[in-house]
Amino acid sequence: MDKKVRVRFAPSPTGPLHIGGLRTALFNYLFAKKHHGTFILRIEDTDQTRYVPGAEAYIINALNWCGIPFDEGIGKDKGYGPYRQSERKEIYKDYALQLVKNGHAYYAFDSAESLDIYRAKEEANGNTFIYNHHNRLKLDNSLSLNADEVSTKIKEGIPYVIRFKTPTAEPLELFDTIRGNMTINTNVLDDKVLFKSDGMPTYHLANIVDDHLMQITHVIRGEEWLPSMALHILLYRAFNWQAPEFSHLPLILKPVGKGKLSKRDGDKMGFPVFPLNWIDPATNELSQGYKEAGYFNNALINMLALLGWNAGTEQELFSLPQLIEAFDLSRVSKSGAKFDPEKTKWFQHQYMQQKSDNELADLLLPILNEKHASILNDNGANNYNAKQLKNFSDKSFVSKVIALTKERATFVTDFWDLTAFFFVAPNLFDEKAISKQWKESSPALMIELINCLNNIADFSSENIENQIKIWINEKELGFGSVMQPFRLGLVGALKGPHLFDIASLIGKEETISRLKFAIENIQK
Ligand code: GLU
Repeated sequence: MDKKVRVRFAPSPTGPLHIGGLRTALFNYLFAKKHHGTFILRIEDTDQTRYVPGAEAYIINALNWCGIPFDEGIGKDKGYGPYRQSERKEIYKDYALQLVKNGHAYYAFDSAESLDIYRAKEEANGNTFIYNHHNRLKLDNSLSLNADEVSTKIKEGIPYVIRFKTPTAEPLELFDTIRGNMTINTNVLDDKVLFKSDGMPTYHLANIVDDHLMQITHVIRGEEWLPSMALHILLYRAFNWQAPEFSHLPLILKPVGKGKLSKRDGDKMGFPVFPLNWIDPATNELSQGYKEAGYFNNALINMLALLGWNAGTEQELFSLPQLIEAFDLSRVSKSGAKFDPEKTKWFQHQYMQQKSDNELADLLLPILNEKHASILNDNGANNYNAKQLKNFSDKSFVSKVIALTKERATFVTDFWDLTAFFFVAPNLFDEKAISKQWKESSPALMIELINCLNNIADFSSENIENQIKIWINEKELGFGSVMQPFRLGLVGALKGPHLFDIASLIGKEETISRLKFAIENIQK
């Protein structure tokens, strides 16, 4: 690539960033980083009627949380700003007028009402109405009026728009990195409005002018903009500017059925479609984000990267640097990518396993703190011994608990259910487990087990296991007849990790006290 790569993510602040938009941002980011280029954020807020307060800040926060911050944009002006189109208003009119002057655009004075009447007439005759070469001379514009009439209208302050004069019957060649070559007959295009009567440019004009002025080399955006590509290429030509290279990313599709993934799919199936929580300022309705649902940012990013792109290998887990290294627009698929909420959870599970026990402990400690408070609130501290309660805030204890249970956890919030018995001795015992595994002989066996445990000085998991196995063999006891009631006593149910690991971690005193409690309290 000869020119320095400059790409932009150009959202309109009309609401929170949907994961489709986030994937567009991600692909721009990956492409920029891969080519040592610049990733720019431009806010396309020319349509004041669709402006939603808070949306811009949300977009910026979302990119930051995902770990894909922009290099250039609001607050990071590198000489191409401002980066909000509303602050660039003055720039666009001259460009629209330049096109009028060189014959590529024209003033149109048609009122909305007159166009409605015209449209209704056309439709009554079975025709669709497009404002273009086939009728523009019959309408109220600077092509059908003479120069005097036009300047009079402008002087009188008659509102006008500026429309692009689409070439007639030209087979236009388009090239998209993902879709290859396409040809389109310009006759099917309409003369799009470039400049509105309220003094604002339309998306098309502002987008092209800004991409040019910001020296954008590659436009990477969603497939919904593919129909605009012909006009954009024609605009570059009319200005005599070099067009950037275009890549239109495939849609993200619903998990089931047809069509584009929507917020409603997420609501129905219970998965977020936004990176962060969003409170709609109009309705106060809260939509949950991936962050608040407990996902790690790198899990979300890894999942999104594989929606419509693959490295051409079986590899699915990619760190951000690995994604940058492997990313290639030519491996983006043309067809839509089905969103799979279960696969997203799978990624989250994988990233959970990659986190160190200590990192996870830092995330779990605040949750434990809350549990601790609510236990004290509900019961008073009386039922719990002080040593056990201390474990709630003991990071090294918590890390060890995590090491034993994390392969079963997908979210940090899963840990309490998986580990509560490490922190709080069971006072209730699973009924089904009792009827199956607590035999008449169990209390006596557990008393013997307590004696055996009492004699074990080194309470490491391995040593407890060895000693107990020796005892079981000597006494010719059934392994299960000891281990199942033992587990029931320590955990309260027949679940949890390796039993000797649990015993070792909670310690000898606590192990024995739990067994005593079980002997006294389990009734058949
Ligand atoms: N403002 C457009 C959007 O909201 C940008 C499209 C483009 O990237 O050209 O998606």
